[in-house]
Amino acid sequence: MGRAGCCHATRDALPSYWPIRSFRSDVLPASFPARLGLFSYDAGSPLTAGTWTAARAGAGCALSAAAHVLRGERAAFALTRPPGHHAGADFFGGYCFLNNAAIAAQALRDAGCDRVAVLDIDYHHGNGTQAIFYERADVQFTSIHGDPHTEYPYYLGYADEEGAGAGLGFNRNLPLPRGTGFAAWREVLQRALRGIAEFRPGALVVSLGLDTFEGDPIAGFTLATPDYLRIGEDLAGAGLPTVFVFEGGYAVAEVGTNAVNVLDGFMQRAG
Ligand SMILES: [Zn+2]
Repeated sequence: MGRAGCCHATRDALPSYWPIRSFRSDVLPASFPARLGLFSYDAGSPLTAGTWTAARAGAGCALSAAAHVLRGERAAFALTRPPGHHAGADFFGGYCFLNNAAIAAQALRDAGCDRVAVLDIDYHHGNGTQAIFYERADVQFTSIHGDPHTEYPYYLGYADEEGAGAGLGFNRNLPLPRGTGFAAWREVLQRALRGIAEFRPGALVVSLGLDTFEGDPIAGFTLATPDYLRIGEDLAGAGLPTVFVFEGGYAVAEVGTNAVNVLDGFMQRAG
């Protein structure tokens, strides 16, 4: 931080360097910005004075939601900020620092749930969640998202990423072009839910991004507010104990209504 370190406490910390291919990642440099680059992958996710407090509270919220479901609740919703699905086991990015959905899924596994499905319906591919479970057969990951050829996070989320090693066949990416509307999106949701049913999980974790909304300022699908009721109904139709974890959603005037619609639809169908 240098001799004026105390004065930096209110400023954003961002990396200036990244170890791209041919660099080593097993050496920890003394330089603070170089260390930041070793554990992050974009310039849009600054560390601030409150980052750790908020991220840790978000992860705690996800654990609390998982605990409620383990105690027999049909569903629980972790209303977290920051979101988590872009964060991996050892890196942050995409406004994400701790992967709340992965933490919830692992908590369900640790409590004796043999198989857990994670369904990511944020507009952006859940690259961190995919990376965490990519070689595992006990946590299935399915993601519906904007085609990474044109959409963040660009470097992961393609349909040919199907898992590796023991995890081969347990990762499913369902990218859709920018501009996709609800009818086409919902057909893909049905496909995703059929794949989840075949996996026969004991619980479902939904990475609930609401940046699929037509009014979202940074995303490109065209889902409308009533569509979120249908999404909740469809998710309840899976018949699984469900942990919802809040991810993206940047149309701040409507995001609350859209979130409540998903939960309303879910509860009405679940009974
Ligand atoms: Zn997103």
